This record gives sequence, C-alpha cells and structure tokens, in this order.
Amino acid sequence: MTKNIAVIEGDGIGIEITAEAVRVLKKIESKYNHTFNFHYVEMGGCAIDKYGTALPDFSLDVCRKADAVLLGAVGGPKWDDPTAKVRPEQGLLALRAGLECFANIRPAKVYKPLADASPLKASIIGGGFDIIVVRELTGGIYFGESGRDEKGAFDTERYSMEEVERIARVAFKIAGGRRRVLHSVDKANVLESSRLWRETVARVSKEYPGIEVINMLVDNAAMQLVRNPSQFDVILTSNMFGDILSDEASQITGSIGMLASASVGGKTGLYEPIHGSAPDIAGKNIANPIAAILSAAMMLDMSFGMKEEANAIDRAVNSVLSDGYRTADIAGEGVAAVSTSEMGKMICERI
Ligand code: NAD
Repeated sequence: MTKNIAVIEGDGIGIEITAEAVRVLKKIESKYNHTFNFHYVEMGGCAIDKYGTALPDFSLDVCRKADAVLLGAVGGPKWDDPTAKVRPEQGLLALRAGLECFANIRPAKVYKPLADASPLKASIIGGGFDIIVVRELTGGIYFGESGRDEKGAFDTERYSMEEVERIARVAFKIAGGRRRVLHSVDKANVLESSRLWRETVARVSKEYPGIEVINMLVDNAAMQLVRNPSQFDVILTSNMFGDILSDEASQITGSIGMLASASVGGKTGLYEPIHGSAPDIAGKNIANPIAAILSAAMMLDMSFGMKEEANAIDRAVNSVLSDGYRTADIAGEGVAAVSTSEMGKMICERI
C-alpha cells in the first residue's frame, strides 16, 4: 500500500520522539512492503517564529491532503505567555477543527512489565487495565456560548442529537472489536444535555446488538476508575467529562510517556502522544518515544487498516519492556536508562 503521511514534529521533545516514530514506520514500510511518503510541515512555536502564525495555511493544506497526520507536540516557555495573541496550542485547535476530528480516542493500558509504575495498589490493578476513552471533541461546553458581565460568567453545554449519534457510533464500533461492553458516562441526574446524551446512546445501541451499554454518572465513573478499574473496557463520554476522565485514566498507567491518542471522524486522522513538548528534557535524547511510536501504530490500524503491522509494533514494545529496557521516566531507581534513539532502534529490531 502507498500512503502519504503529514508529519508535524512541533517543538521541544516533539522533534526527538517523532524521529523515532518515523524510524519505526520506515521499518514497517520495508518489512511489510508498503510505501510511506513523509511530508514534513511546521506547526506550533516553530511556526510562530517563522511565519507569525501557529498553523500556516500550507501546513493545514498538506495535512488535509494526506492520508493521516503524525504529530509530536507543540509549545514551550518561549511562547507560553497566556496574554499573547498568537499561541502554539491555537495550531492544535485549528488543526483538529480543520481536519474535522470530532472523536478523540485515548487508549490507557498498563503494560505488564510496568505494573509497578501505576500509583494504584497491586491488589487493585492486578485485574489488568486496558481501556479506551472515546471523547467527543468538537462540541459541548468548550464550544458553547460563553460570556461574562460585572456580576459573573457563564458557559453553555449544548449537544445536538447528530453530534451524540456520530461519536456513539465510533465508540460502539470500537467496543464491538473488544469486550463488547460500553460505559456511557454522563450527568443525566442533573443536566438536560446529558439526558439527551443517554437517550441518544440508547437509540444508537439498537444498531449494535450484542454490545452491552452501562450508563454511569461521571462522579461515580471518576471513583470507579480508581476503585475497580478493570470493570471498564470502552468509555464513551462528552468533551469536558472526557478531558478529565482520560487524564485520570492515563495516570493509572503511571507513565505519560507511554500513551498515544487518535483524533478521527473526518477524512484525515490525527495521531499524537498525549504528553506535551516537555521543555525540561528537550534536546537531551532522554524522552520516552513510546507514546509517539504507539501513536504511529494507531495510525496504521485506524487510518490504513494495517492491523497486523500495528500489532507488530505493540508486541515489539512489550518485548523491549519485558527485557527490562527503560527510558529515564519509567526506569525507577537503580535502573540504567536507555536513550530516546536507543529505545526507538530496539523497538525496530524487534518488529
Ligand atoms: P508535558 O507533558 O510536556 O510534561 C509534563 C512532565 O512529563 C514533564 O516533567 C516532562 O518532562 C514529562 N514528560 C512528558 N512527556 C515525556 C516523555 N515522552 N518522556 C519523558 N518524560 C515526559 O506537559 P507540560 O510541562 O505541562 O507542558 C509543556 C509544554 O507542552 C507547554 O508549552 C504546553 O502548552 C505544551 N503541551 C502541548 C501539548 C500538545 O502538543 N498536544 C499537550 C500538553 C502540553
């Protein structure tokens, strides 16, 4: 297969980790006889410095025309002034909107060799933790009407049935390929928009017989995630609840450098690690590239239908970790860490 991949390295460690993800994709290319054309474009702080805007039109254009977009991370202290007119994360929001990515998919998984990294007790995490949070990304309170006057401020949560239907279908499809249990998380005891959410999910569920839907209130879900995490498999939720729960779920794995994400729904999918540009360790070749590498694996699976190739990457990551190799963030005391590039090379060797 021939695929065009737009690559945005971004800022800070984005550059180092993306290089390793591309190294792994090149290995897949040769091993499985594919052709990947990589088109590098700029976004974030580096684009602000060069063009005065976080996402130049031609960067977005290349991304739109590509079969998928691989992103490192953007931002850094140089551009962090919250009052600045142009900021790196404007690029992110514009890119997601420009690609019409309404579904954010975040797997959170504890790799067995890293079980000690979880802040949860072995007796709780022992049942395993391997979930996917499906978060609605372009609607809800972050996009509703908001305002402020001398007495106060307001934000509005508004969802259309169509917005809920389309994100629900994404979640049902994912659940269908896994344990066939879907937790739909809302606040239907208080919010009208959540009642619409619940009714709509129930209606869509008729299209997916055999998948069990469990409705859960968000406060309970936040508690259950740390009390009994293995009950979950796929969580479907709104923009704001998903923002919070996916961060909570990621912390259960204990390692931000391991977690990938996909934003899909439009023609072109966007794949990126969940972490930022980590300016504190940038340029030192010590960042963990696994989140970026697993983001590339998600791209192969979800945008190109290359399940076997994606699984090969996952197995290679597991193998390297089982043999005890760790970057500094997951090494723990007394364990000699490998560098970003060494980790990338070792994963390639095991594919
Ligand atoms: P961060 O995720 O960059 O870093 C948080 C901590 O985790 C740091 O100590 C960092 O060293 C560590 N870390 C992150 N990724 C790592 C990896 N792969 N390997 C090893 N350690 C890793 O979050 P932050 O410090 O809050 O933000 C730094 C910059 O990144 C800010 O400018 C912020 O706006 C930006 N940011 C960008 C994105 C994105 O591009 N999607 C997301 C979050 C933050």
